[in-house]
Amino acid sequence: MLKVVLEGHDNYYGLQDVLRLFYGQTREDRGSKLIICDSGPDTTIVSKADPSSDLPVNRQVKRDLYEQISEMEGRTFPWGSLTGIRPTIVAREEDYDYQKLISRYLVREDKAKLACDTARLEYQIAKKASSGLNVYAGVPFCPGRCEYCSFIAEDATKHLNRLPDYASALIEEMNELRPFINEAPGTIYMGGGTPTVFDEYDFERVVTALGEVFKAGEDTEFTVEAGRPDTITQGKLKAMRNAGVNRICINPQTMRDETLQRLRRSHTAKDVIRAYEQAREAGFSVINMDLIAGLKYETADDFISSVKRVMALEPENITIHTLYKKRRAGMSREDVLNSDGRGDIDRAVREAYEMLKEKGYVPYYMYRQKDTELSLENTGFCKDGTYNIYNVAMMSSECSVLSVGAGAMSKRAFTGGRFERCANVKDVSLYMNSSKQMAQKKISFFDLDRNLRGR
Ligand code: SF4
Repeated sequence: MLKVVLEGHDNYYGLQDVLRLFYGQTREDRGSKLIICDSGPDTTIVSKADPSSDLPVNRQVKRDLYEQISEMEGRTFPWGSLTGIRPTIVAREEDYDYQKLISRYLVREDKAKLACDTARLEYQIAKKASSGLNVYAGVPFCPGRCEYCSFIAEDATKHLNRLPDYASALIEEMNELRPFINEAPGTIYMGGGTPTVFDEYDFERVVTALGEVFKAGEDTEFTVEAGRPDTITQGKLKAMRNAGVNRICINPQTMRDETLQRLRRSHTAKDVIRAYEQAREAGFSVINMDLIAGLKYETADDFISSVKRVMALEPENITIHTLYKKRRAGMSREDVLNSDGRGDIDRAVREAYEMLKEKGYVPYYMYRQKDTELSLENTGFCKDGTYNIYNVAMMSSECSVLSVGAGAMSKRAFTGGRFERCANVKDVSLYMNSSKQMAQKKISFFDLDRNLRGR
């Protein structure tokens, strides 16, 4: 059993993040200033604040502990002692100097460069996004639940009768806000779940209301996360174009049919290609496609093969996720993290990034989640300046987002990086009975009657 004694600081949270990288579960005994890893070696480490270090104490003690254990175990991790979800924030604080990420946080060179490159572009995009309001509309329904998902999505196949009422509630919430919207927001994003799960009639009325209420114009970045290709029809694509939608996400996650089937995604790689071609025919000039590295049921080489097949389609944006353990997902932690037999996911992700770079894609946003293979990241790539501003806005503390729909979280940014949140009720039934009140709550949260930009 490994014991870590804290001296001169109380960064229990940060040290446990480091310990979890190596040993999984930890527990703490604050009375004795101890963190315990039952699966660690039989030894005790003293973690001390070092007044001579120029790193803030919380980061210094994490780095020192990481270094000690890494030497003891003969093992390193790509992100070194950086365990937070936003490595790009640290890159910005370190003046985009990748050498500092290597020397001060023991980050591997390729990740240090990735963080700095991404941070530069991410910061420019965040500045754009912070000058106006960003709008999100949430549809927490999906046509069945993927095995790795824990999202609050309702399985639409079991609730088909609720979709028209949900569409009406969403429109009601938007209409309540209508008198307070005088100019188009910078971005509008319809996400989920799977927004295209509605039938054509309901989808059209929701997307049309979204465009009209928020006055989508030519300059508005208007995205629909169409997600599952099997829900995309020509009628829905036409409705999107008519409403002013200029970007769409078609997410294969993998192009291997066997994996798709075992993950309970009811579509094939062929469906992805069909939806992609239809979206192009409908006039979409910016398409994003998501892929996941480290999926259960497939190898690192299967992932690379999916990346190649998606790249052959030449979408403007490709987002590479790493499978992570979601709290309420059907997959267990072991299913996600015990990747024996799946090959070297780290190598596969690096190879994918190289291939993307060669074809002119650049990284523009990045975040990490807990419980991923080797604590790897998710990175959004774009080419020719086609980045999605909303993706950056939703993560940035400097950008306001007004959100509608069940469980939707609004965020109001104030100068100096401070922000406040305002949540809609999560429960779909409760939301359907209170969508007008949700709108009223936001009118006062954003002071919409006084300050239409919500800033
Ligand atoms: S489509 Fe996305 S949100 Fe829906 S169940 Fe699958 S992973 Fe979850």
